Amino acid sequence: MPSSQLDSPWETLPAPPTEKPVILRVTGSAESKLRRGHPWLYAEQIRSESRPGKPGDLAVVFDRKRTFLAIGLYDPLSPTRLRVLRARRSGPVDQALFDERFAAAIDRRAPLLETQTDAYRMVHGESDELPGFIADRYGDSAVVKLYSHAWVPWLSAALRALTASQPLQRIVLRLSRQLSEQPGALAGLHDGQLLLGELPTGPLTYLENGLRFEVDLIRGQKTGAFLDQRDNRARIEQLSRGKSVLNVFSYTGGFSLYAARGGARSVTSVDQSGPALAASQRNFALNMSDPDVAAAQHQIREGDAFAVMRDLAQQGQTFDVVIVDPPAFARRRSQVEGALHAYGRLAGLALSLLKPAGQLLLASCTKPVDAETFRATVCAAAVQAGRPLRDIAATGHALDHPTDFAESAYLKGLFATA
Ligand code: SAH
Repeated sequence: MPSSQLDSPWETLPAPPTEKPVILRVTGSAESKLRRGHPWLYAEQIRSESRPGKPGDLAVVFDRKRTFLAIGLYDPLSPTRLRVLRARRSGPVDQALFDERFAAAIDRRAPLLETQTDAYRMVHGESDELPGFIADRYGDSAVVKLYSHAWVPWLSAALRALTASQPLQRIVLRLSRQLSEQPGALAGLHDGQLLLGELPTGPLTYLENGLRFEVDLIRGQKTGAFLDQRDNRARIEQLSRGKSVLNVFSYTGGFSLYAARGGARSVTSVDQSGPALAASQRNFALNMSDPDVAAAQHQIREGDAFAVMRDLAQQGQTFDVVIVDPPAFARRRSQVEGALHAYGRLAGLALSLLKPAGQLLLASCTKPVDAETFRATVCAAAVQAGRPLRDIAATGHALDHPTDFAESAYLKGLFATA
């Protein structure tokens, strides 16, 4: 196919900048960080700029001895002013670089294809050396999520690289909150925009470890599903046979369905979102050919998780397995104390619903809460509830959500008996 034809779906997207890179001089500590391969440069670490840069301009950093340190995408709209694409060794930022990075990221996920899974994170930003860029695959569809305006003029190059490595029928664009809040710099792009193909008339589905799920790529949370919990869901399946399972913050029923396939007698899904609960019921319907899913009793409870858990406890209900996977409770350091308080309360509530020697999974996706603090908080709450945790297993990131970049570690799971 001639390249002009390949390019055609994205002809109208903005083109990469043609100006020379902005030259940045940075603080001594920023120099050391870049030298160690850190992919970000903050605004306050910049001492001088050769010219004012626009979002997506290239910017290059030299140290005091005029040695090349890094080149990357400049973003004057973000406190993270530079996202590094090449560090230590200079080289062009061009289609070939993106082709190479996307191909490496997609190769890295090859083991997942052995597991009847066609939904996973193809590109995980900084950890795949594509900082601020996420791509999740759902069957023959992909969702691209941008976290910096700097990607706008590079989007077409990124899409070419993505589709060169992975044949796709459709691509949906999702934008982080920060981007949606500054639409002026988006060159007309918008959240939920279809970048390739057409949406089917019926629901889109994907396969995760052999289970089928529907997904709403345009309106779903995150990019449509919480792919990051795949391994924890598989672990829940292994300990569900014959059990009663409570799944709090169930979204579209991921953990519920794994528990059912694992032989759970009954599964109760709790969420405040009616549409998510309705999707969880449709997801059960999609998997009825599995005898264990067909045999499990699935119930839904719509409402605030804290209130529903209190209600269930007041009714004297208990479960063999309790899963609690709440949304992030803090974005900033200043909110961490409140988040820890919430985790403590959730742990107490979960334990009040757990049968003796039951299995608990408490998860946290709150970035500013580190694994040790999370564990200490949950353990302390359990001691206070008179149900100290035993046989604790702490889980982290799956293969498709690598954490080569330390700051990208956010997911913490605690499996325990109590
Ligand atoms: N465990 C899910 C992902 C959970 S995401 C999975 O494996 O796919 C967090 C969920 O919590 C969302 O579905 C959101 O609707 C729900 N939620 C957020 N706040 C809530 C609250 N206070 N009470 C109940 N559900 C809540």
